Amino acid sequence: MSALLSIRDLSVDFALGSWLDIGARRQLNILSGISLDLVPGETLGLVGESGSGKTTLARAILGLQKLSGGTIQFEGAPLASPSDFARVRRRTAMMFQDAVSSLSPRMAVGEAVTEPFAIHREALADRRQTARDLLAEVGLRPEIASRFPHELSGGQARRVGVARALALRPALVIADEPTAGLDVSVQAEILNLMADLKDRLSLSYLIITHNLALVRHVADRIAVLYLGRLVETGPSEKIFARPAHPYTRSLIAAEPIPDPRRRRADLAIKGEIPSILRRPGGCVFHTRCPIAKDRCKTETPAPRREGAHQVNCHFADI
Ligand code: SF4
Repeated sequence: MSALLSIRDLSVDFALGSWLDIGARRQLNILSGISLDLVPGETLGLVGESGSGKTTLARAILGLQKLSGGTIQFEGAPLASPSDFARVRRRTAMMFQDAVSSLSPRMAVGEAVTEPFAIHREALADRRQTARDLLAEVGLRPEIASRFPHELSGGQARRVGVARALALRPALVIADEPTAGLDVSVQAEILNLMADLKDRLSLSYLIITHNLALVRHVADRIAVLYLGRLVETGPSEKIFARPAHPYTRSLIAAEPIPDPRRRRADLAIKGEIPSILRRPGGCVFHTRCPIAKDRCKTETPAPRREGAHQVNCHFADI
C-alpha cells in the first residue's frame, strides 16, 4: 500500500540569537535523520519525553516549521511550496491536549465545529445541520451546539475537539496527548470513539504522547524519539513484546504495573533528559544508558534493521 505520509531524512534547525548567551546566530539542531511512513488506516504512536522533538515534527508536517533538510510527501506528492502545505492542512486535522483552551471562549460549540469550513473557504449549505451532524457523530446531543467551551466537561470538550477535527473529512488526524487530564473512564470513551471513527471514516492517526499505555492500546506501529533522534521504530506488538533499544526498554519499564511482585527498577531510566542545547555526542542516549560502553560516547550508532523494525544502538539484538 502506498504511504499517506512519507518523511525522509528530515531535519529541523532553529536559529538562536545571542540572548541565550551561546553565540550569535548559532543554529540549534532540533531534529535530524527522521524517516517515517504512515499508510492509510494506520495509527502511528510517536513517543518520547518532553523535549524529544515530537511537537516540532508535527509542526513540520503541517508546514508550520521550516525544514532544514529532507523531504515530506503527503498522498504521493511532495510538500515544498505554501500551496502544498495548504493542501496538507486541508487534509489533516489536529486534536489538542487542552481541548477547552484550543476552542475560542467566545465561540459557541456549533460555530466552533464548523469553523474549519470558513478557514478553508469551503461552502456550507446548512451550518446548523452540519454542526448537529458532527456532534451526533461524536456522541453529543444537538443542544450542546449553543454552549460555550467553559460550560463543557473535559470529556465533552474532547469530543467537540474530535467533531471539529472531522469537519472536513481529513485523511490524517494528528492527536497531541488525546487523553491527557481525563479520568480513566473518559479516556476509554475517547479512545473507543477514535477507534470507531478510524474504521468508519478510514482515518490515519499520528498520536503524539509520552503515555506508553495509550500507545500500547491504540498504535499499530510506534516511533521512539530521544533528543531529536529516532532511536527505535517498528510494529507496536513486536516492540512492546521485545523492545530492542535501552531507551525504549526504560520507557516501558517506567509504565505502572499492576503486580507489585514484578520488579523493573533495574531498567528504570535514570536522571533528566539533557537540554537539547547540550545534546551528547556519539549516541545521544549514552549519558543515561545503563549499558553504555566507551564507543557510545564517540560513535553515532548506525541503524540495525529486521523487516519493519529499526533500532539505533551499537548493541541492539533484533
Ligand atoms: Fe546505549 Fe550505546 Fe546503545 Fe546508545 S549505542 S543505546 S549508549 S548501548
